[in-house]
Amino acid sequence: MASAIAVLNAGSSSIKFSLFLERGDDLALDIRGQIESIYTSPRFVAKGSDGAVRAEKTWGKGAPLGHEAALRHLIGYLKGELAGDRLIGVGHRVVHGGLEYAGPVRVDSSVVAALEKYVPLAPLHQPHNLAPIRGILAALPDLPQVACFDTAFHRTIPDLAQRFAIPTALHEEGVRRYGFHGLSYEYIASVLPRHDARGAAGRTVVLHLGNGSSMCALQGGRSVATTMGFTAVDGLPMGTRTGSLDPGVILYLMDQRGMDARAIEKLIYNESGLLGVSGISSDMRTLLASDDARAKRAVDLYCYRIRRELGSLAAALGGLDAIVFTAGIGENSAAIRDRVCRDAQWLGVALDRSANERGGPRLSTEWSSVAVWAIPTNEELMIARHARRLINS
Ligand code: ADP
Repeated sequence: MASAIAVLNAGSSSIKFSLFLERGDDLALDIRGQIESIYTSPRFVAKGSDGAVRAEKTWGKGAPLGHEAALRHLIGYLKGELAGDRLIGVGHRVVHGGLEYAGPVRVDSSVVAALEKYVPLAPLHQPHNLAPIRGILAALPDLPQVACFDTAFHRTIPDLAQRFAIPTALHEEGVRRYGFHGLSYEYIASVLPRHDARGAAGRTVVLHLGNGSSMCALQGGRSVATTMGFTAVDGLPMGTRTGSLDPGVILYLMDQRGMDARAIEKLIYNESGLLGVSGISSDMRTLLASDDARAKRAVDLYCYRIRRELGSLAAALGGLDAIVFTAGIGENSAAIRDRVCRDAQWLGVALDRSANERGGPRLSTEWSSVAVWAIPTNEELMIARHARRLINS
């Protein structure tokens, strides 16, 4: 009989899950899957660690499940799967831990109430992240739960780098740069010493390039600056998000187009980025495969903005020892890595093209003064490790 940890990542229309089993000192992935489109045409799939489908179910169009019923289905499935193993707890991905949480926390109803305070800071994510925590507290009150935050890893960012140049009272109220993708950066910081002792102890920029994209400057493994800010819409352009945008554009849209907050939210979160610029797709693979000039322009802008942000983060660090590519685009696209590294030659980056084609992990030549790596991220494992540590302590 093994001890098991479940990890949940609940979004607006899906709940992703994974199940880890204790293996000696660490955890091994057993099952991962999701219930998606839970308000339109729900579909559940669970796969083993080898990628083979273990269970599937569809509910059909016009049979909305909702979060509660989706969670019930998931708990029922996991109970059946666990059989002889013992579920010792659940780890949850929660987007916002505010200024209060600089690390993961065991949750009870008072912690949930504290986390409710951050709903206004992340209205598109926080309510969905908290819903399954509340659901499990009600259904299985004795099962330990741990919340792990996307913001927590960035609590080490110095006060100056957290500030917007706005009146101090607003900063004190919480209008500041929080940064996101923290669980991904924390995972990379945890494995980097195995690959690159100098980069891990020194100045490294990690590029988390996925549907959501951001970059983080690490000094000795601690976050000191990042491209996302008050919200996860700041920084690099993404699949459908704008990235940094002159706030004057928002005023123009309100005054001249009569757009309200919801219409602007839709524009900057769902209709912009790679999709908005190309008018074709938010998916990098599709854009790279296209010979349409609009697809090329979207990819060009994405790479140009990475080039600018890399310079900015290298300046914040006062130099650069290593860069790490991770997430869907960073781990898989040799073409984007090649372009980013060519743009970074002035920083001392020399890419080994055949290593890049092979996917690394080391991508730089021997004489490159900056080491370049491609390292797969693993946010779920990071959450499971945190949960296990807090539950066993
Ligand atoms: P999420 O932020 O949703 O977790 P991922 O990290 O899975 O996203 O990244 C998704 C992105 O990665 C998509 O734009 C997809 O096209 C891109 N991607 C995945 N594989 C490749 C590849 N081989 N080449 C280029 N882009 C890729």
